[in-house]
Amino acid sequence: MPTEATEKPGKAGKALHSTYPPSAEFVAQANGGPDLYSEADKDRDAFWAQQAQRLHWHKPFTEVLDWSDAPVAKWFADGKLNVAYNCVDRHVEDGYGDQVAIHWEGEPGDTRTLTYSDLLSLVSKAANYLTEIGLQPGDRVAIYMPMVPEAIASMLACARLGLTHSVVFAGFSASALRSRIDDAEAKLVITTDGQFRRGKPAPLKASVDDAIGGESPAPSVQNVLVVRRTGQEIPWQEGRDVWWHETVERTSDKHEAEAFDAEHPLFLLYTSGTTGKPKGILHTSGGYLTQASYTHNYVFDHKPGKDVYWCTADIGWVTGHTYIVYGPLSNRATQVVYEGTPNSPNEHRHFEVIEKYGVSIYYTAPTLIRTFMKWGREIPDAHDLTSLRLLGTVGEPINPEAWRWYHEVFGAGRCPIVDTWWQTETGAIMISPLPGVTECKPGSAMAPLPGISMQIIDDDAKPVKLGETEANGYLVIDKPWPAMLRGIWGDMQRFKDTYWSRFAEQGYYFAGDGAKLDEDGAVWVLGRVDDVMNISGHRISTAEVESALVGHAAVAESAVIGATDATTGQAIVAFVILRQGVENTGDALVSDLRAAVAQDIGPIAKPRDIYIVPELPKTRSGKIMRRLLRDVAEGRQLGDTSTLVDPAVVESLRGQ
Ligand code: ATP
Ligand code: MG
Repeated sequence: MPTEATEKPGKAGKALHSTYPPSAEFVAQANGGPDLYSEADKDRDAFWAQQAQRLHWHKPFTEVLDWSDAPVAKWFADGKLNVAYNCVDRHVEDGYGDQVAIHWEGEPGDTRTLTYSDLLSLVSKAANYLTEIGLQPGDRVAIYMPMVPEAIASMLACARLGLTHSVVFAGFSASALRSRIDDAEAKLVITTDGQFRRGKPAPLKASVDDAIGGESPAPSVQNVLVVRRTGQEIPWQEGRDVWWHETVERTSDKHEAEAFDAEHPLFLLYTSGTTGKPKGILHTSGGYLTQASYTHNYVFDHKPGKDVYWCTADIGWVTGHTYIVYGPLSNRATQVVYEGTPNSPNEHRHFEVIEKYGVSIYYTAPTLIRTFMKWGREIPDAHDLTSLRLLGTVGEPINPEAWRWYHEVFGAGRCPIVDTWWQTETGAIMISPLPGVTECKPGSAMAPLPGISMQIIDDDAKPVKLGETEANGYLVIDKPWPAMLRGIWGDMQRFKDTYWSRFAEQGYYFAGDGAKLDEDGAVWVLGRVDDVMNISGHRISTAEVESALVGHAAVAESAVIGATDATTGQAIVAFVILRQGVENTGDALVSDLRAAVAQDIGPIAKPRDIYIVPELPKTRSGKIMRRLLRDVAEGRQLGDTSTLVDPAVVESLRGQ
């Protein structure tokens, strides 16, 4: 039954703040109820100790949190567990060996089905081989692979052996790979011969050779383990390189998992670098897995053995780590893993996959939702999407217009949407509605989850007041949480400077994001604080102006920046992409768009310039690189473009 939206008029008289309560049907079956909040408030440590019981502990912990060495937390420190055992073995031991763990869908249309027993043999073999080549607990392994089952198995094999994996997104260049390998001093690189991208095999092993071979070979790398995926020709270095099918596949599929300390390092993941040199974010085992499992269970209302779950992220991002590998597998999920892009061979691909596997939980990024909007609703409308029962987003603030489209076109008005705020650094979801409890407002991530304590504060660390228009502040986390980062690899000073110095006195973690509280106490994340503009002394967030533009029927996507302006300090400059089929009427359209922003936010927020463009510069994780747009708008030399999908986009904007 579709949920009814309750309309509350916004500033411009529009239903900006309509709320969407969960349906009675959903509430009746939800994993989480309002009592979770009260339990967590009563005794946070006891609450997390309780959540940790979702896992199997080889040696139970007696201590929950040790914050004496702040800002480095220890959670469950005297307990021992094996992360891979928790994600695979125990489900097989509990009698679910035949349950499908992964419905894998290759880009060219080939498929594989792995049950939990299959996954256990694959992980055990990989663990046996990694042991055979002499890797020891604590050693680092770089994983540079497309979305094939062996990539997931490799991560789990590392976890099983206490090796620290560092997954590098397979879309990154050889030089990006090299700097990450060197920083972590990885001994092994696991890769594939190539990867399919829009129907064509693209080289991957050759990039590894570019990265670590040649005149200055990477000193730390001893071996390169290669999975055959595309069958293309590859360079080969005898003695260093080995094929997966000639080594891993030949070892025994039995392996006994050994327990490690809860604080044993699990993985390093380098942030995407939208704000500077990538940082190797360090995560450990027991606390991370506890929060991964807890959030996946409650935020996605996941029912093992019933739901078919699909997170469309890549394992190269933290979302792929926590919500493809560790969260869902620890909860015995049956999930879809898709190798390719959403428009391969055409724009129907995601909808076909949802239909084919009966996907019930779908988790994606706002950028993809806006892309689907641009492609038009005829595409999703051509498919049976009735299996869906819950939708999620992550990565950026979602524009209310995109939220409503997602709700209606994907969810037929029936599915709760969880807008989840978190970061590589937080390890797992921090702010999100609880489906079955929260009345959602499109565009708001709503409230910190039970067990998570956060505030929005001003320059003097005072909490901002509810509902005031100027109540923009800094989003901070004021209590340690289980999945929090334990440092930046090799640079503890940078860890302290980056996250703990702004509110050092209070001991708050500053996330780098701005947010505001509305009159009901709902959290609206406004994006990075550097993305908040100052127009004649008024603080306006780029996200709000972008949402106003996307709210106009002609606009599919927009990026807004503050450019230096002699009179107003900063002036708003907008770049917009039109929806498919909309005609660019030039000045008429531009003045229409300016009027729409004035209507929605106020005349002060009217962009000085609006450029209609075909593309926007995005990182490979789909985020808009606003700093490059600022460079363009202010006629500066471009900053680092190495993580852009297509650097040519900025050049063509500059031309305009
Ligand atoms: P880098 O830190 O290298 O610049 P990044 O911050 O984009 O890159 P991630 O850790 O993947 O790397 O992304 C976390 C950031 O994404 C958050 O700090 C926030 O700005 C944004 N974000 C994630 N989810 C949401 C959400 N639901 N609503 C608003 N913003 C979000
Ligand atoms: Mg960040």
